[in-house]
Amino acid sequence: MPHILAENFYAAAQRYNRPTMNTVTPQVPAIASHWPLQALNTFGIAATARAYLRVSSAADLQAVRANPTLSVLPRLVLGGGSNLILSGDFDGLVLHLANQGKMIVSEDDAHIVVRAQAGENWHEFVQWTLAQNLPGLENLSLIPGSVGAAPIQNIGAYGSELKDFFHSLTYCDFLTGEVCVLDREACHFGYRDSIFKQELRDRAVILDVSFALPKHWQPNLSYTELANELSASRVATPTARDISEVVIAIRRRKLPDPSVIGNAGSFFKNPVISNEVHAELLKKYPQLVSYAQPDGRVKLAAGWMIDQCGWKGKSLGAAGVHEKQALVLINRGGASGADVLKLAQAIQDDVQQRFGVKLEIEPVLV
Ligand SMILES: Cc1cc2nc3c(=O)[nH]c(=O)nc-3n(C[C@H](O)[C@H](O)[C@H](O)COP(=O)(O)OP(=O)(O)OC[C@H]3O[C@@H](n4cnc5c(N)ncnc54)[C@H](O)[C@@H]3O)c2cc1C
Repeated sequence: MPHILAENFYAAAQRYNRPTMNTVTPQVPAIASHWPLQALNTFGIAATARAYLRVSSAADLQAVRANPTLSVLPRLVLGGGSNLILSGDFDGLVLHLANQGKMIVSEDDAHIVVRAQAGENWHEFVQWTLAQNLPGLENLSLIPGSVGAAPIQNIGAYGSELKDFFHSLTYCDFLTGEVCVLDREACHFGYRDSIFKQELRDRAVILDVSFALPKHWQPNLSYTELANELSASRVATPTARDISEVVIAIRRRKLPDPSVIGNAGSFFKNPVISNEVHAELLKKYPQLVSYAQPDGRVKLAAGWMIDQCGWKGKSLGAAGVHEKQALVLINRGGASGADVLKLAQAIQDDVQQRFGVKLEIEPVLV
């Protein structure tokens, strides 16, 4: 089990102003049944949930745990719905995180710690930090979704990952009712991975996330396209705000806006392979797009391989591959979860056959 930090269980529970277990009469917030989910997932898949509940606190979750009807239902914790694929109606309880709030918590010589509630919109939170003159998160601008979901897959873009600035988070363990605080080490962050996709899968409901933002900030221009675009705009010493604006511009140019074309961002993870396998592949495909990793392994550009297999711009039923970005699957109108998964499987088969590489789906399948 992950450890609980010095700010222990009771202190964390107190932050939510509640006793820790079963000592209050639980009040279940208003429940809706057969709730439509189409507007709550960015792929725009039409599906319903057997029960739907907006939750704002650990107390709300304790009330659900204590309710004999609700506590036994399968659960889906929902943020912005930008990283999940609904394979059909959800015969369970959707817990939609709705808690709001962001604040500066503390500082030391090197960092300022800020905290946001799970239901906050990620991009708005990033913009808020920049408005407070607290740089650090700018490379992660415009990633859709909520603050609470951001640690789940250790969101990353343009040379930065959430883990680079992560301080700690608070979650409620739905199985035990405990409210726990985890530091960065305990979260086991990896490439689009964390403890919340492993040991704590289906049990942790993240309530808030804190970030340690550097007082002595350095721009992160390790991503070539970002550096090139800044130098093309003749920005010699970019501010965090400059970087955020360029990231936003690049993203708007390259990625479909989910409010216009349903999608869940990158549909497949970029596979990481050994140096030896990479050397063999390079002999066959000298144009192979790849990135050396600090651990000696090599990350392959999944989008390039999908493009080579001829999928860019193609469709299978109502699901398709975006014209500009082969890594992004899209809803051409009325796509069901089954349509999307059929297309994904066809792409996976082709890439496996041609390159001998297995593509792993990035969004969560529900
Ligand atoms: C156009 C587009 C671009 C994208 N670009 C990027 C990118 O550049 N980099 C990147 O990393 N991702 C990207 N994504 C994916 C997505 O934005 C992120 O994964 C985001 O963090 C998902 O947040 P969400 O609130 O929408 O999560 P949801 O889709 O609601 O949920 C995703 C998963 O997290 C769980 N979850 C959600 N909230 C909580 C919580 N509070 N506690 C516990 N579990 C929770 C859900 O149960 C589910 O398993 C992109 C998506 C889109 C549509």
